[in-house]
Amino acid sequence: MNKPSASPESLNVSARTPTVKPVGGTGLLDQLHRPLRDLRISVTDRCNFRCTYCMPREVFSSDHAFLPQPELLSFEEITRMASIAVTMGVQKIRLTGGEPLLRKHVENLIEQLAQLRTPQGQPVELAMTTNATLLAQKAQALKTAGLHRVTVSLDALDSSRFSQLSDSNVAVERVLAGIEKAAEVGLAPVKVNMVVRKGINDDQIVPMARYFKGRGHALRFIEYMDVGNSNGWNLDEVVTGAEIIQKLSAEFDIEPAAANYYGEVADRYRYTDGSGEIGIITSVSNPFCGDCTRMRLSPEGQFFLCLFASRGYDVRSLLRSEATDNEIAAHVMEIWRGRGDRYSELRGLGTAPKDKIEMSYIGG
Ligand code: SAM
Ligand code: SF4
Ligand code: SF4
Repeated sequence: MNKPSASPESLNVSARTPTVKPVGGTGLLDQLHRPLRDLRISVTDRCNFRCTYCMPREVFSSDHAFLPQPELLSFEEITRMASIAVTMGVQKIRLTGGEPLLRKHVENLIEQLAQLRTPQGQPVELAMTTNATLLAQKAQALKTAGLHRVTVSLDALDSSRFSQLSDSNVAVERVLAGIEKAAEVGLAPVKVNMVVRKGINDDQIVPMARYFKGRGHALRFIEYMDVGNSNGWNLDEVVTGAEIIQKLSAEFDIEPAAANYYGEVADRYRYTDGSGEIGIITSVSNPFCGDCTRMRLSPEGQFFLCLFASRGYDVRSLLRSEATDNEIAAHVMEIWRGRGDRYSELRGLGTAPKDKIEMSYIGG
């Protein structure tokens, strides 16, 4: 496994000033005064890709111990947990994985989640992050079930590079067809996420921008992160947001655009000719922990308070006990109140913990 050979300081890391306004809702705040607003639910730890930075084949081989079905939360258990989280302030739910479209009948879960209402009577915003291999065939069912938006992960346009990065024989055209179908059925605006790695796919930045410019989808470039323990992350492979913008500015006329909402993770830029926008997610060079209002639920019912957490908090045993919703809510609120996680900021200071959960297990 490679070791980081550059120091975090060499990235000029600076934490952002938090913009989250902890107002309204239940008054539930963590140790850093962050409210709970977003719930990311990983519905499976399985995937049909073996992206080298997420599920390298040598670690996630055919004899890897994936979770057996009875270990997974059922759709009813997930919906119950989500409805409790909504009473605590959650306004957005994102389904992820592993590959969420591999979970059988995931549209039935979406149908249940779409019934949830915030204490103010608003529907909960429902999104999904997917590799889109099954999206063209599932988009209409997802939309009908009540999904609002999708984010599609795509790290290269070039077909041989795409196969190499996803370590699969899925054609890139299938992903592109999934994106178009999602937009066509109204799962829009479709966001397209590209994780950029130096010397691996940074030559795809401009072709990706050129392809998506004017198509109505929001392309977002993501700094490569040291999630999990299995991808052999190396700081030398991080292309910073500033470097990405430099590359794009040499080719296109772009200008910064205002954030859409408090705590938006992407820095937005728009093409001055009005042909769309792009986003940059600087999780490494300019972390946004101060605004992080996200809690993650793993496939078998553990809450994780940070993408880089080393431990989770079991709620499945409570969901499978006689505990009432109020008792479960009290337990989860206690967990949130104790939260002081800010891994990406600590990484910049060189004091971050080493053991982390895998991204394919808790989702991005
Ligand atoms: N399988 C789905 C997909 O790929 O969209 C959902 C789960 S995947 C773990 C969620 C997101 O995490 C993807 O956009 C992926 O690119 C991103 N991701 C995985 N490993 C990453 C890493 N080391 N750094 C940055 N993003 C990563
Ligand atoms: Fe699968 Fe998504 Fe991880 Fe790639 S990033 S291996 S598609 S879970
Ligand atoms: Fe949130 Fe943890 Fe990422 Fe910071 S490092 S933004 S606390 S998930």
